[in-house]
Amino acid sequence: MRAEPFKIKMVEPIRLLPRDERESKIREAGYNPFSLRAEDVYIDLLTDSGTGAMSDRQWAGLMLGDESYAGSRNFYHLEETVKRLTGYQFIVPTHQGRGAEQVLFPLMIQPGQYVAGNFHFDTTKAHIELAKGRPVNFVIEEAFDTESSHPFKGNMDNEKLEQFISKNGKESIAFILITVTCNSAGGQPVSMENIKQTSELSRKYGIPLFFDAARFAENAYFIKQREKGYQDKEISDIVREMFSYGDGFTMSAKKDGLVNIGGLLSIKEDTALYEACRANVVPYEGFPTYGGLTGRDMEALARGLEEVVDDDYLAHRIHQVAYLGNRLMENQIPVQKPIGGHAVFVDAKKFLPHIPHWQFPAHALAVELYMEAGVRGVEIGSLLLGRDPETGENLKSPVEFLRLTIPRRTYTDRHMDVVVEGLVKLYERRDRIRGMRLTYEPKVLRHFTAQLEPVQE
Ligand SMILES: *Cc1c(COP(=O)(O)O)cnc(C)c1O
Repeated sequence: MRAEPFKIKMVEPIRLLPRDERESKIREAGYNPFSLRAEDVYIDLLTDSGTGAMSDRQWAGLMLGDESYAGSRNFYHLEETVKRLTGYQFIVPTHQGRGAEQVLFPLMIQPGQYVAGNFHFDTTKAHIELAKGRPVNFVIEEAFDTESSHPFKGNMDNEKLEQFISKNGKESIAFILITVTCNSAGGQPVSMENIKQTSELSRKYGIPLFFDAARFAENAYFIKQREKGYQDKEISDIVREMFSYGDGFTMSAKKDGLVNIGGLLSIKEDTALYEACRANVVPYEGFPTYGGLTGRDMEALARGLEEVVDDDYLAHRIHQVAYLGNRLMENQIPVQKPIGGHAVFVDAKKFLPHIPHWQFPAHALAVELYMEAGVRGVEIGSLLLGRDPETGENLKSPVEFLRLTIPRRTYTDRHMDVVVEGLVKLYERRDRIRGMRLTYEPKVLRHFTAQLEPVQE
């Protein structure tokens, strides 16, 4: 048996409010967990983005921040680390992942061109559209089957992609973007074999290949565990091989960078593209040797990237997520399979079959879980999807998930047990859980600020 590969040197107290206070807090929040104060949450599984704990080495690095406007030594440390990790020549720091997207995409996309991906993340899709491009997804069919135990559900359907290229012409595609792991498909990995095939298509048709590399190390760990020929390889060698198939990447460092803020844009060898990125980063993010980050932020990121490729760390990370998922499954709670790298997705359609999509079953479950156990999760379903712009009807999402996203190095397995216990209690009285009705709804991105109430029988 193995425990967390760290001991705790600094603590941040959390507390579980009494049940009656949790009920009034969520009522005051318009039955929307996004509107709760973080202080009123006991275990916060809203996101794994920027919510992790830094190591003592990273905190020590903060004290070594060189806050020079240009040429900070921390930039050079970051640059050297990324070069070693990826084999790429050019590095531009950005304030977070979307900063890298807003700098790169307008340089790559001609209006009307497609950007072909396995499954574009929300901000990625938005930045493709802002650059007048058209995002298209080619993730394999298995990604949408919550019962399929395919080991690499984030894979690109390369046959479909090639048909699309043949049909529309290679000039119509600005670039190909592989998201590792595939966030929107539930943190599911992409295999090396699949990446290699996509890379062959990219070479054959002369279409650049980029990675959306937020969870590059978690993806490498899955390759090591699941793909033939990689069991005895070092994670850092798997990472380097993966990047060798691409031309560049954007990265939200708030995930596998193990920092609370930061992002990266990197180009393998295209000097002209790098120079264009460097020019573009100035008006959006800042001078190219800081890109919206302080010197100390860059130091913490350089150190985080060195730590994240450690086998013991990754084993703990992936196994903690799997631990939560497996314990839920042992208790008959329906979850998406196999368990992904950063979150467990509870299938609310199966948990609460009596609640129709227009009464947001996964959101009802999120509200109940907060009242039951002080745990904050988030709905990925029909509330998130919104309305049909023409008819105004609530759209029916193909999935109704409660996402339980695990911050890195932040909670112990004992915290996971609290989540399981809460969900088990809800499962026992699931017949009595009611749906939700909107009482206030903004026009765009309604899930962040919407207000709701339980449906009265
Ligand atoms: C988080 C994320 C982004 C956006 O990054 P931010 O740091 O939140 O701006 C882009 N792509 C993926 C896959 C992500 O997970």
